Amino acid sequence: MLIDIYILALFLVIGSFLNVVAIRLLNKESIAFPPSHCPQCKHKLSVLDLVPVFSYLFLKGKCRYCQTKISPLYPFGELLTATSIFIVYKFVGLQLELIPALLLTILLVISVLTDIRKQLILDVVTLPMLGLLIISRLLIGSEPFWYYLLGGVVGFALLLLIAIVSRGGMGGGDVKLYAAIGVALGPWMTVMSLVLASFVGTIVGITLLVLGIVKRKQPIAFGPFIFIGTLLAYLFGYDIWIWYLNLLW
Ligand SMILES: [Zn+2]
Repeated sequence: MLIDIYILALFLVIGSFLNVVAIRLLNKESIAFPPSHCPQCKHKLSVLDLVPVFSYLFLKGKCRYCQTKISPLYPFGELLTATSIFIVYKFVGLQLELIPALLLTILLVISVLTDIRKQLILDVVTLPMLGLLIISRLLIGSEPFWYYLLGGVVGFALLLLIAIVSRGGMGGGDVKLYAAIGVALGPWMTVMSLVLASFVGTIVGITLLVLGIVKRKQPIAFGPFIFIGTLLAYLFGYDIWIWYLNLLW
């Protein structure tokens, strides 16, 4: 139990780092330099300002130096990363499969954060992660290797088809993201992740429409639904499939 708290704290720090990576890449800034600073007054942040989630709560969502409001996306991103990595770690356990699992989760988290902020899924994140996923599938000896490569091709082709049919409703970023997802999940679960993502997306979309939070034709970022659908398919895909088959018969 205590070890879980340590691990969760570590994941919060990783989440905080990935948050900054997402923002800096969006703004085309260097990841390493300059050190963390307030985007408004440029004041360098102290260690006390950088404690994930807690600093935000303690400072009541304002910069300590210039009182500018800090986006709630910061603590949200930190919590999202920490909880999703923790859940994946708990379900996959300490085995080689954890390597592609964590690569996939990190890729998904950064994609959600950039997609929510600017409706962008960045090539500088997706393409290296795609490469790392292929290498990890090779190195940990996932059998058969072609199965996961085929997953990448299926993910890429499916999303490309949707992008062409929807005429811009789905961007090139999503297409490349799905190639990476495919390598992590293999073809069947890639298809399931897309079905789940669309299902959750439709329900949320209709709900937001009914509640008047979004207007018809207003684009909603699909990234968060890809995130949910993919993690569900990766962790529980076969259970969901069996449950569905039982429902049919
Ligand atoms: Zn400031």
